[in-house]
Amino acid sequence: MSVLDIHVLGSPVLRQETTPVAEITPELQRLIDDMFETMYAAKGIGLAAPQIGRRERMSVIDVDDQRFVIINPEIVLAEGKQKAEEGCLSIPEIYGDVERATHVVVRATDREGKPFELDATELLARCLQHEIDHLHGRLFIDYL
Ligand code: ZN
Repeated sequence: MSVLDIHVLGSPVLRQETTPVAEITPELQRLIDDMFETMYAAKGIGLAAPQIGRRERMSVIDVDDQRFVIINPEIVLAEGKQKAEEGCLSIPEIYGDVERATHVVVRATDREGKPFELDATELLARCLQHEIDHLHGRLFIDYL
């Protein structure tokens, strides 16, 4: 595994729409493993493919020791509102309060290509919304 370079604000790829993943390949799984390694090295709780300069529609997340790979994720339910401070590995040293849904249900595909549904609240719900935003070129500073 290897630690990849994280793209920071100003890199065009952060503002581009991603492309849905059509097939789970060994190369894609290696990329997922590298994304986890990169995220842990940077002490983050989530990392989306555009942050390492890639266009695949996928992110990795580790909140409270729960690890998730979300490939082609979709938010199918969002309810409630919570405001809390957010940061981003691609926007160093900037933090701000962002309003997000308290509860989300996300439909995605996992590292093995199996579809699953994730029912999340609080920090995990916030992280999911932040990482899914990345896959559509949106950054948390857009809400400030
Ligand atoms: Zn981010």
